[in-house]
Amino acid sequence: MTTVAFLGLGAIGRPMAHRVAAAGFDLTVWNRTADRSREFTAATKARAAATPAEAVRGAQVVITCLSTSQNVAALLDGPDGLLAGLERGALFVDCTSGDPSTSARIAGRLAEHDVAFIDAPVSGGTSGAEKGILTVMVGGDAAALERARPVLESFGKKIVHCGAVGAGDAVKAMNNAMLAIHVWSTGECMAALAKAGVSPRVALDVVNASSGRSNTSENLFPERVLSRAFPRTFRLALLDKDIGIAAQVAREQKIPSPILQLTAELFRMAHAELGEEADHVEAVRVIERLGGTEIK
Ligand code: NDP
Repeated sequence: MTTVAFLGLGAIGRPMAHRVAAAGFDLTVWNRTADRSREFTAATKARAAATPAEAVRGAQVVITCLSTSQNVAALLDGPDGLLAGLERGALFVDCTSGDPSTSARIAGRLAEHDVAFIDAPVSGGTSGAEKGILTVMVGGDAAALERARPVLESFGKKIVHCGAVGAGDAVKAMNNAMLAIHVWSTGECMAALAKAGVSPRVALDVVNASSGRSNTSENLFPERVLSRAFPRTFRLALLDKDIGIAAQVAREQKIPSPILQLTAELFRMAHAELGEEADHVEAVRVIERLGGTEIK
């Protein structure tokens, strides 16, 4: 039986780790805030480790799902750090929506210890994680992905090799940049229509049978904005981070990217305005406030 360590039991990490446990893997978990690991082990057969080093000792596959690549890099060193516990020959799977250059640096550090690294960010939200139907986009060695596949299949349905280390992060950042653009542009359009006296519900009904539709118009707006429910499943702070990575990748590649750069700025502003706990879809509240209207 493959021994797995899972570090990072946040909004999406927790349901992913639950899927790993339910698939029968021999699982140890670690979370910075220990209450979350205790809650997890109370509901599963998994063990809780006190430190990252303890979590990964003896593990064949190590999965991290933290906020940023920098958070992962910061766990490597020190007596309680990952490198102190990782076994030679282990496989490190970072499911954080990370940034390609930090992932490359992490992969280099791990290679010195004979540990293979793949970046494997996910898409599909917390509900997709609960159902085990996430999309997993992978950067790194194809053979390493094949070793990871049985574990990834516990929470992923579509698992795609995108290229070398960092390619998964780059695809994820661009996907989320498109999400951010959809949220903001749908917000502007619906706010303008609401103020002009057209019901956003009627307008979305039209759009969703027309060429402007997207996951944002079909699902996010009806379920979260029109309902005024704004459930907190994916923090705006994290989408701000993702669009920032996407804008950086575009700049590095010297691709003209005014829309990405502007959207990065808008989400930085919305994040500063709405704080750390706001959900990503709540960015439309900024448009509503400035425009003096509500999309409902
Ligand atoms: P949360 O904010 O809910 O959780 C973040 C996790 O990272 C927590 O376990 C937190 O620990 C841990 N963490 C943060 N900083 C550190 C640190 N410095 N050292 C150690 N641990 C740290 O985030 P999500 O679970 O929503 O997201 C995790 C990753 O997955 C992000 O990269 C995000 O962009 C991505 N993602 C999220 C999706 C979603 O729908 N939520 C969808 C797809 C991708 P603690 O509990 O102690 O705070």
